[in-house]
Amino acid sequence: MEYPLNVEAPKSFTHVVRNLPTVTAEQRLRALKATHYNEFAFPAGMLYVDCLSDSGTTSMTDAQWGAMFLGDESYGRNKGYYVLLDAFRDVWERGDQQKRAIDLLRSGVDKDDVEKMMDELYLVDTEGGFINGGSYQLERPNTFIVPQGRCAEALLFDVIKPLLAKRYPGKVFTIPSNAHFDTTEGNIKQMGSVPRNLFHKELLFEIPEGGKYEKNPFKGDMDIDKLNQLLDSVGIENVPLIYTTVTNNSVCGQPVSMANMRAVSAIAHKHGIPFVMDGARWAENCYFIKMNEEGYADKSIAEIAKEMFSYFDVVSASLKKNGHANMGGLLAFRDKGYFWKNFSEFNEDGSVKVDIGHLLKVRQISAYGNDSYGGMSGHDIMALCVGLYEEQRFEYQDERVRQCEYLAQGLHQAGVPVVLPAGGHGVYIDVDKFFGYKRDHESFAGQALSLEMIHRYGIRCSELGDFSMEYDLKTPEQKAEVCNVVRLAINRSQYSKQHMDYIIAAAAQLYKDRDTIPNLKITFGRTLPMRHFHAWLEPYEPSREELCDQ
Ligand SMILES: *Cc1c(COP(=O)(O)O)cnc(C)c1O
Repeated sequence: MEYPLNVEAPKSFTHVVRNLPTVTAEQRLRALKATHYNEFAFPAGMLYVDCLSDSGTTSMTDAQWGAMFLGDESYGRNKGYYVLLDAFRDVWERGDQQKRAIDLLRSGVDKDDVEKMMDELYLVDTEGGFINGGSYQLERPNTFIVPQGRCAEALLFDVIKPLLAKRYPGKVFTIPSNAHFDTTEGNIKQMGSVPRNLFHKELLFEIPEGGKYEKNPFKGDMDIDKLNQLLDSVGIENVPLIYTTVTNNSVCGQPVSMANMRAVSAIAHKHGIPFVMDGARWAENCYFIKMNEEGYADKSIAEIAKEMFSYFDVVSASLKKNGHANMGGLLAFRDKGYFWKNFSEFNEDGSVKVDIGHLLKVRQISAYGNDSYGGMSGHDIMALCVGLYEEQRFEYQDERVRQCEYLAQGLHQAGVPVVLPAGGHGVYIDVDKFFGYKRDHESFAGQALSLEMIHRYGIRCSELGDFSMEYDLKTPEQKAEVCNVVRLAINRSQYSKQHMDYIIAAAAQLYKDRDTIPNLKITFGRTLPMRHFHAWLEPYEPSREELCDQ
């Protein structure tokens, strides 16, 4: 016998508390001026709610803090290396048939039965997926631990840039995606290539009657027609990689359907192009597939992940997002897959002359640390390992995604234009609509909106539109691919309903007062790569025409 209520039973509770200071708007304004209105430079200790990024900001669970004590800081082949690599195999490749090797450490088998450790962990040879093991990882390295996502990107592009330049001198390469993250764009541009973002803009900003779709329409999908057109127009030989970001962070954290990944994978492979997943929010995307895509309702997140990963040749991931951990990243490619074949060098008899894995490993060792830890500490590796398993818990993803939807619906009801439905890790304000399409793209009003949230209410968001995505520096076709938004990223397990209600009230008030929000000009660093992290800004009054109703 169940006794149902129309409110939900809680799924977690707060275990440690951090108190906050009381800060005035005047104090925040002083700090804004002193930090050249760069929102990344604003002191976090003066904020009430920090929605700048969900990256590395998770409140870790008791299980994660506990596992940190198991951390092994050995320089070579620390225990965490083995359990972390096996955790990736578990959650990405094994579906419901998982081994949970970390339990060998948690239960003390590592001290009591070294034979078992050798047979089940230390000396196990595995090959064929993203995570070679034992002797195969030495023969054909394909898994590279790094401190965070952008290190995986830099590692990849640092190594393939000279290879491509040698093979095709003078060529400019294009790398399409459903939408690249800002650091991915930055890394691609720094290698002299052109990033393209092929999402559906119309679908993204479409809002259904009453604000709710029956099922999430997967607004993060790549537009397949645009991809085919692009391949035709620039030529297949000029497209060394095709990306898909799951969930699509730059496109408002919107999920990508399995059908879309399957289709893009087929196109990429038809042309022999490696398909790369930018997989920071892989589990969250699997949750959306389970809830909204036909045929997946009865599958676990792990089973869905297994299918999703099977379509890709490379995974580049920030493992600081959602509930992973405070630090971590990975670059991995499929053993003997398209990436390995395209970027390794072979002798005439088909034997390997230069294995791309060894080139990546040299770079990893020079820049981050040896392959056993790649710039992560032993205790961070353990926290990440536990976080990987927690990511695939349905209850956790459900609570998180619904918290975002609560915020999005609250803002929508209060009249603030947001993208609906919410994605999984944040809520995105539609800047052009917020200002009634009155502000010019080079007035950076979205960034100004974001700064006013800090100034007036002590809430930090992040602009991911005209300023960050460098509208003023783009070609006309790239300009059309910018979506001008401000993101409220929600840290995992940190904020309560009270925080959400405070954000809703603040944004609703600022929306009413939107004509008092200044425009911004860039006073330093306009053309610096990834300028939003370090450029300086200054407010100025918008013109009277911009404020008058048309
Ligand atoms: C955060 C993020 C990155 C960059 O990762 P960092 O860990 O911040 O370096 C890359 N891609 C996506 C989709 C991200 O969300």
